[in-house]
Amino acid sequence: MIRSTEGVDWCEVYLREPEHGTIVLTARASGDRTSEGPSVLAEGQLVHWVAEYGTEASVLMDGTSRVASSRTDPHAPSVFDSSVASPGGPDMLAEPLRVLFLPLNVRDRIVGVLAIGAATGLDLGPSRRRVLRALSYYAALGVERVRLVRDAEHAEALRQADQRADQLKDAVLASVSHDLRTPLTTIKALANAIAASGDARATTIEQEADRLNRFVENLLDLSRIQAGGHRRNPVPNDAEDLVGAALQQVSGHTATREVIVELESGRAPMVGLFDFSDTLRALVNLLENAHKYSPVVTPLELAVRREPPWLAFEVADRGRGVVAAERDRIFQPFYRPVDGSPDIGGAGLGLSIARSLAVAQGGSLTYEPRDGGGSVFTLRVPALDAAELEPDV
Ligand code: ADP
Repeated sequence: MIRSTEGVDWCEVYLREPEHGTIVLTARASGDRTSEGPSVLAEGQLVHWVAEYGTEASVLMDGTSRVASSRTDPHAPSVFDSSVASPGGPDMLAEPLRVLFLPLNVRDRIVGVLAIGAATGLDLGPSRRRVLRALSYYAALGVERVRLVRDAEHAEALRQADQRADQLKDAVLASVSHDLRTPLTTIKALANAIAASGDARATTIEQEADRLNRFVENLLDLSRIQAGGHRRNPVPNDAEDLVGAALQQVSGHTATREVIVELESGRAPMVGLFDFSDTLRALVNLLENAHKYSPVVTPLELAVRREPPWLAFEVADRGRGVVAAERDRIFQPFYRPVDGSPDIGGAGLGLSIARSLAVAQGGSLTYEPRDGGGSVFTLRVPALDAAELEPDV
């Protein structure tokens, strides 16, 4: 369109490749009087100049180049030998041109370059230049639109691939759940019967079957929580009740251990809006981890604080902590550090389940290294302030 309405010999559009940012010739229209586009080295360089600095550039009839001073960078280096290039004013000189390069700008981004040329010279008065700039603006908008459509299509393709992967994952999980749990139940029942006849090995079989069963349960829970198919019941709950229940649940493991509990003092009770059993499960996991990953002679610490709009449960230990490179990864399913502690029964699902449970109810679970050594895991859930609580009647 530009070539025919402007009556030029050829018109080229160069666009920036999204991946490498390089400028490539994307479209070319030439009339009957075929004339070469900017394949000559200096002209190829001019295209890159225009794409880099967003200025106009031209090639005069005698083959010398001119570039307008840069709008984006007044100190832009000249890539051209001064014998062939000299800076021109914003409109450059009204000399006849063989080639004109215009940047394609969308907002502040240079998305490409428009080049037009005529072997016998371009007749470009100020009004034609204005028309050309307007055309280049619309061309740039067109380029941007194509890019946005392509991005949207790409996102849609990814979404569909994700959906297919999810369906596959669900199918695998359903099968794992059924095909693993059914024989496990049989193994456990038989081991239990044999253990009753006094064979200690059967007890081990039973324990291992339990462990495998827990693993399958966790796997299914995680996938259910992450898929949003997990039912929750967020209601006002007292932090103290949650702490009491969590300590009670871990008491079997931590009987020989000092556990220091600190509840922020204040007149109003510390109340949050959370699902009691989900939050309990997350908190118990943090306490069990703190116990597993720190020396028994050191105390475990559990503190509850008001951090509006959150109620924060901090579990701190004096273990070896988590190295910087692993701090995000420990929250991923199945992640266990390679040089980690010996196998102490976990499968690397606990923290990802705990975080998913926290996030699903609008909270969070984060890690911080502890001053003086060790870890602090903080579980945050939405707090309710006293004014939001229904008055007792
Ligand atoms: P698991 O304990 O079953 O391996 P988790 O998801 O609970 O799974 O934890 C993942 C990893 O994070 C653990 O293997 C451990 O390396 C690290 N980790 C968790 N809690 C602590 C902690 N309190 N101190 C040090 N490392 C921890």
